Formats: sequence, C-alpha cells, structure tokens
Amino acid sequence: MHAIFRPPVNWRHRRFRYGLVVWRCLNCGAVHQYATRICRRCRSNRVAEDRLPDRARLVTLTVVKNPPVSFEKQAPYIVGLVEFEDGTKMLTGITDCEPEELKPGMELERVVRKIAEDGESGLIVYGYKFRPVIKRR
Ligand SMILES: [Zn+2]
Repeated sequence: MHAIFRPPVNWRHRRFRYGLVVWRCLNCGAVHQYATRICRRCRSNRVAEDRLPDRARLVTLTVVKNPPVSFEKQAPYIVGLVEFEDGTKMLTGITDCEPEELKPGMELERVVRKIAEDGESGLIVYGYKFRPVIKRR
C-alpha cells in the first residue's frame, strides 16, 4: 500500500516540488513527500532520502474547470493520477496535450512548468508536471 500524493502547497515541500525527492521507509516501504526522520505509518526511524523516477504511467485523469484560487488563469487543465514503477501513486498536472490524447497505461515524462501565479505578490511558482513521452529519433 502506497500513499497517494497530492500537489504540494507550501515551502516545506519545495524539494519534492522541484526534484520529486521523497523519504522512503526502509522498514515498511512507505513513501513520504517531505523530510521526516520517523515513518508516519510504522514509526520506524529507518527513513532514507530517495527520488521518484522521471517517468510514470497514467492511471486516470480528470479535467478541472473550476480551479482553486491562484490556478484560475490555467483552467481548464488536466490533473492525472500517475503510478511509478515502484507502485507509488501521485496526483500531478498534465501538460502539452489534449485530454483526448491521453489513455490509461500510457507513459508520461516529467517536465518543469509554471504551476501557479500569486496575483498580489507577482510570485510565479514553478514545479513539475507530466506530459506524454515525446519520441526522439
Ligand atoms: Zn514505515
């Protein structure tokens, strides 16, 4: 059983946001998306830093038409549930394609994109999204 990650929303998630850095429990296999010394599932202290791969498979997707605050300018956009080869599942934005092009099971690759804009401060937040793998010849 693996946790399903949701898009990170604050500063302590910054390493996860930019590099998919996770903390994996060596005792029970649980994966945490922020720095921790104790596994939140089994309380073991055998937790080691790890990285999720740059590629994942699409499990399911949804098109968001009524987004939360600070994501309005991007609507409609695609959110997908993806699965890495170790079984970890994560919710992520999907970009560079139309919803009709996406099929469950297809391979996606990670890219860096603008993910939010704070109108008040002018702050633009960058992070990962996934897109269909582009075949290179
Ligand atoms: Zn554990």
